[in-house]
Amino acid sequence: MKKKEIIEYLETSEPIELFSTADKVRKEFCGNGVLLRALIEFSNCCNKRCLYCGLNAENQTLPRYRLKKEAIIACVKAAVNDGLKTIVLQSGDDFTYTKDDLCSIVKGIKGLGREIAVTLSLGERSIDDYLSLKDSGADRVLLKFETTNETLYQKLHPGQSLKKRLELLNQLKQIGFQVGTGNIVGLPGQTSEDLAEDILFFKEFQPDMVGIGPFMPQKETTLAKELPPSVDLVLKVMALTRLATKNSHMPSTTALNTLDKSAGHLKGLSSGCNVIMVNYTPISNRKNYRIYDNKNSLNLNQVLDIVKQAGRKVDFSRGDSLKSKDQNKST
Ligand code: SF4
Repeated sequence: MKKKEIIEYLETSEPIELFSTADKVRKEFCGNGVLLRALIEFSNCCNKRCLYCGLNAENQTLPRYRLKKEAIIACVKAAVNDGLKTIVLQSGDDFTYTKDDLCSIVKGIKGLGREIAVTLSLGERSIDDYLSLKDSGADRVLLKFETTNETLYQKLHPGQSLKKRLELLNQLKQIGFQVGTGNIVGLPGQTSEDLAEDILFFKEFQPDMVGIGPFMPQKETTLAKELPPSVDLVLKVMALTRLATKNSHMPSTTALNTLDKSAGHLKGLSSGCNVIMVNYTPISNRKNYRIYDNKNSLNLNQVLDIVKQAGRKVDFSRGDSLKSKDQNKST
């Protein structure tokens, strides 16, 4: 795919044909199963100031929480009892948790069963931290770059560097993690050309996992009055990313399912996606993990129902990377 062709699809193509092509490619390269990932949002504290995010350090109105190891392990046990085998530990950039704290949590999870895969979504920690976390048994890392437009990145992420983030992504790959990345569709100021560059980045980097979500305005941020993108634009980026990456695991994101509350996941699953996240964050904390408003997180029964409606089957396996069959299978 050339940039010009991608832009044409984003701006003018008849989406139905694109979506069905992406669906065929997904079936050929990833199979018919829908992988489940258990999401545990263990801390909503963050030292960063991303303009679109309700967790940003300057939001004084957000009640903050941090789960202790015992509480996290209780969430993991609930997910494992339900048959899920991938645990996604997600937080803001919260350095209150030291490297040793995080390693202890990972070891505690692995102690429940070696077959459990641990995915870290902790933001920009040092490579030394990530190496120790890998030694402790962590299998995968998610680190979205959000946009490949450096000027836009700088504007939306005060004090952060796109170059540093991309370097970290490469380092994580080199040290043997299964690596996921992703972008935000519809950021204020983002163009079709920017989105095409993001898709070309996915093609070049070939992430093991790729997460694509719409920009969703959050009322306590400076971008509160901006509008989200159309559902079709998000689906087009997902479909084009499926064509560009072939076998990367790609979730039908919670943000898509919030943008289109009635059918977001169904549409995502028909446009190249093969993963859904199930939320295992304690109910009392969940409402305060408000990166954006009215997050439409789902429990297992709701997800099972959607997968059935989509005519697909749930896949309860670990769902390791399809990029390399031998990568990190039994860490
Ligand atoms: S997007 Fe991530 S790093 Fe940025 S403020 Fe939100 S939680 Fe923090």
